[in-house]
Amino acid sequence: MAEIIDGKKIAANVKAEVRAEVEKLKAAGAKPGLAVVLVGNNPASRVYVSNKEKDCAECGFASYEYALPEETTEAELLELVEKLNSDETVDGILVQLPLPKQICEQTILHAISPEKDVDAFHPENVGRIMIGDYRFLPCTPAGVIEMLDAMQIDVSGKHCVVIGRSNIVGKPMGMLLLHRNGTVTICHSRTKDLAEQTKQADILVAAVGRAGFVTKDMVKPGAVVIDVGMNRNAEGKLVGDVCYDEVAEIASAITPVPGGVGPMTRAILMRNTLTAAKAHRASLD
Ligand code: NAP
Repeated sequence: MAEIIDGKKIAANVKAEVRAEVEKLKAAGAKPGLAVVLVGNNPASRVYVSNKEKDCAECGFASYEYALPEETTEAELLELVEKLNSDETVDGILVQLPLPKQICEQTILHAISPEKDVDAFHPENVGRIMIGDYRFLPCTPAGVIEMLDAMQIDVSGKHCVVIGRSNIVGKPMGMLLLHRNGTVTICHSRTKDLAEQTKQADILVAAVGRAGFVTKDMVKPGAVVIDVGMNRNAEGKLVGDVCYDEVAEIASAITPVPGGVGPMTRAILMRNTLTAAKAHRASLD
């Protein structure tokens, strides 16, 4: 039976470290803070934003929420982003995705100051991730690496297979694993004979967005299985991309959903906010 990788516990440790650093900044007179922008009424986005506010409170950050109506125009949102870019009290800016259809996400993400882009979605930060000169870590992939480190799972020389090639998860995940000297295969919807690829994996990362997509027959016995997926099943329950029960029988370690990658993503966002706050304060000195 696989060892369960406890994302909740590892995330709590990361947040405790962040909190200790935030206390130091505050003792030196700073008031580090994150601006979170929510546009519209997407219920899932509302939950994500309120979780981020809870994390901020836990880590000692001020959080400034901007809830804008569904009909907000791109120009109005750009105006707010510009205001936050030049606001000295704001260290990090996060615009919750998805945005309503009248707003181009790329335009907004490109407008956020790279120094305050704690999600690491600005092309400058994406480029820095590519060359390994990180300003901010990509939250979900870095959360995965943090879990592997906590479990003392060495990536070097391992065959790592990532299912999914999104800009948010799959691609940066592949880069971080490569930077750790993994041999990386990135699979996607056009990959031929996916199971042949996934069965080669010493470390398998599933970021597909389909409940129960990864079955036991796709996994090599003894593999480490990381489930990034967050899907609602027919009963409305949160489930991952991996058929947990059957894959746990043969994997050496596995992340649960919930309680795996999700809390880690949130913890890395807090770490990025700390990085932003430190750099911002240093620039003011
Ligand atoms: P996405 O943008 O929809 O990307 C999904 C990827 O899966 C795409 O690259 C797609 O390939 C690939 N794919 C789809 N069907 C496939 C198939 N049959 N065979 C092989 N590959 C297939 O999703 P995402 O934003 O990366 O998110 C993926 C999942 O992770 C979602 O469940 C999301 O909710 C979850 N997520 C969780 C966290 C967390 O903190 N735990 C954070 C972010 C996302 P193509 O590129 O060819 O279409």
